[in-house]
Amino acid sequence: MIQRLVLASGNPGKLREFRRLLEPLGLQVVPQAELGIAPADEPHVTFIENALAKARHASAQSRLPALADDSGICVDALGGAPGVRSARYAGEAASDERNNRALVAALRDVADRHAHYYCVLVLVRRADDPEPIIAEGIWRGTIVDTPRGSGGFGYDPHFQDDVTGLTGAELTLPRKNALSHRGKAMRRLLARLESLQNP
Ligand code: IMP
Repeated sequence: MIQRLVLASGNPGKLREFRRLLEPLGLQVVPQAELGIAPADEPHVTFIENALAKARHASAQSRLPALADDSGICVDALGGAPGVRSARYAGEAASDERNNRALVAALRDVADRHAHYYCVLVLVRRADDPEPIIAEGIWRGTIVDTPRGSGGFGYDPHFQDDVTGLTGAELTLPRKNALSHRGKAMRRLLARLESLQNP
């Protein structure tokens, strides 16, 4: 039974969302930076490869079970970009604000605003776990030029949810978790974990 896991991410927005999802279940989430673990490289062209690399790295360094999230926003009219490069769309170590400006600029005069967030989660019980637990989630919406809301992180002020018409940044954290790519992936991951622990 897992009680404590290391989160293979330094993103405070992700940490907030995971804590909200996992702590009510008695799972303690420790961000890797708190253990002095530097972020892993993310050189791959698929989300799943990056997530596996991050989870293995955090578990190897901490000797704890590790959870990694690789996620991003994929815009139809941009052929799926920013995609795996979402955090670095406007350059290495770009701020959310610069990434958002680059996205709005790339969509100038583009009518098709359909986009989705994608998230894959990987949980390894140890660095050489041959059976990582993997779950995905997708959240559909459209990109709006004018940012709205003050919650969330990343592209949320420009991402309008198809169901509620609100941007990710206008949703409260529990509502975002109910709709989002990460919330969906997390619920699937927990169901898998539960079925493995109580076959
Ligand atoms: P990663 O750390 O390589 O997985 O980068 C994920 C990037 O995708 C983040 O830095 C954001 O730019 C974007 N992203 C992923 N999930 C969300 C979300 O829920 N809201 C806003 N942006 C997100």
